[in-house]
Amino acid sequence: MCHNNINNFNNKEKIMPTNDRVCIIGGGPAGLSCAMYLEKKGYENYVIFEKQNRVGGKCFSPKIKVKHNGVEEEKSFETGAIMGAITYHAVSEMEEFGGYYHCGPDWKPGEPNMRREFRKLDGTVDHPFEPKVNFSIKKTAGLLKLKKQMKKLNKLMQTKYKGYDCYGHLGVAKGEYYGISKGVDGYCGATKEDSFPNYIKGTNPNLKDLALPFSEFCKLNGVEEVQRIWIAPFTSFGYGFFDEIPTALVMKYLDVTTALEFVGMKLWTWPEGTEQIYVHVNEKLKHPALLNSEVVKVERPEGGKIKVTVLRDGKETVEEFDKLIVTTPLDYFANYADATAEEKELFGKIIHEKYCDYIATFEPGKSPNISGYMVDNMVPERLGHAMVYYNRWEYLDRDCPATVYALRNHLGSEDVSYEYTMKTMDEDMEKVGFPVKEKLYAQEVYYCPHVSPKDYADGWYDKLEALQGTKNTFYAGEIISFGDMEDTCAASKDIIGRFF
Ligand SMILES: Cc1cc2nc3c(=O)[nH]c(=O)nc-3n(C[C@H](O)[C@H](O)[C@H](O)COP(=O)(O)OP(=O)(O)OC[C@H]3O[C@@H](n4cnc5c(N)ncnc54)[C@H](O)[C@@H]3O)c2cc1C
Repeated sequence: MCHNNINNFNNKEKIMPTNDRVCIIGGGPAGLSCAMYLEKKGYENYVIFEKQNRVGGKCFSPKIKVKHNGVEEEKSFETGAIMGAITYHAVSEMEEFGGYYHCGPDWKPGEPNMRREFRKLDGTVDHPFEPKVNFSIKKTAGLLKLKKQMKKLNKLMQTKYKGYDCYGHLGVAKGEYYGISKGVDGYCGATKEDSFPNYIKGTNPNLKDLALPFSEFCKLNGVEEVQRIWIAPFTSFGYGFFDEIPTALVMKYLDVTTALEFVGMKLWTWPEGTEQIYVHVNEKLKHPALLNSEVVKVERPEGGKIKVTVLRDGKETVEEFDKLIVTTPLDYFANYADATAEEKELFGKIIHEKYCDYIATFEPGKSPNISGYMVDNMVPERLGHAMVYYNRWEYLDRDCPATVYALRNHLGSEDVSYEYTMKTMDEDMEKVGFPVKEKLYAQEVYYCPHVSPKDYADGWYDKLEALQGTKNTFYAGEIISFGDMEDTCAASKDIIGRFF
């Protein structure tokens, strides 16, 4: 493993401007955070190519006109990332750099609404975690069991699985850990005054269990009930089903602290939308992203400069670079780059989720006035069904458009089509009492790239690490740690910190 350079991150005395020309593909959270951390290390000569006409990638927060009590106004809605938590240290550094901050964790009137309910498929509201509502001995016993297992899991993660909670997956398949400590108080595992990352390193053979699908891991450790807590912020958020996703992905994203913040609704939101975090960072960068600039070809001749062909306004231009940072889906890299046999083999193993969502208006006065989880639809047998809907502005009450979400794939099942998914989501919303009037925006996203439990156990992440720097190419983005804003930005900090 190459662990160079970690000691000069943010240590001002050692920062030396460097003239290496760096190409960053992608102007999402990963690309922009790479640029920010490059600047912090003295790199001034970088270019970000972004194929869309905006930055932020999957953080896209369109403004929509809404009408309530006869008053019309424009409000931000979310099509992608929505929330963060106290454990979002790298995102916090992005906020500081850009000068744009979250609200929460405590909700105040006028801020985006994070309240939610659970809804059965017949439309009735369920109260699975409130012992006093619909009281029964069975329910109380179930909740006691859940509480006990939560406590057990928490303890296991601190003891048997010590080292699980750093960013990334280095060494896990071999029973080791190496990465920036997540911590809960610090900045990306460091102190507020000095954002030098605090790497933790060690050996723990039990960590190999993290390659198991989460459902198997829970069974092995006698904590099956905890899946009831983890499922809503995992499966309904599009990250897949517990029988297909390695535990490491589940527990690194939803470490116990973050999971409990979800339960307690102690969450961060951004009133103008998550996109604005990245718009603000981009404005402060020495070299803001070049928009409408799609990288269509990458050539990396032995011993020569890297040649990057960019399509802009229908014209192709070629530029030369010393180093390349790829933040875009690696399973598509071979489509435009001179990928090596090793890259092709490794990247060919990447799986991604097919997450669909739409923002809709509803029949007059029939919008959901609070967000809702439909847990009965969070099983592979119900692919294409609505799993969650998001009400963003509480004061708009039953006039508020909502975003509705579904998954259309599962490892080992046949995908359902996008058209089927859109239709089924409409039907589900109607059944639970929210008939869709018009879809204002609809999409399917390339989501949560990862590898199968088998490939995880075979050391996929260590093989990727071994490729870092070959042909002056570095890989960042969601695949490195997990497909959320925090893990993505922290991965940039790690990659830039160690290799630049
Ligand atoms: C519905 C949804 C809900 C989510 N909820 C949350 C949440 O609540 N909290 C959270 O933390 N995260 C959430 N996420 C995840 C988060 O948005 C992503 O993890 C994050 O955006 C990943 O950043 P990235 O830069 O790696 O990839 P992306 O955001 O996908 O950015 C990649 C960028 O590369 C560009 N690009 C691609 N190919 C090329 C090319 N050839 N040339 C130039 N540019 C190119 C794309 O246009 C894009 O802008 C959510 C995502 C979605 C879709």
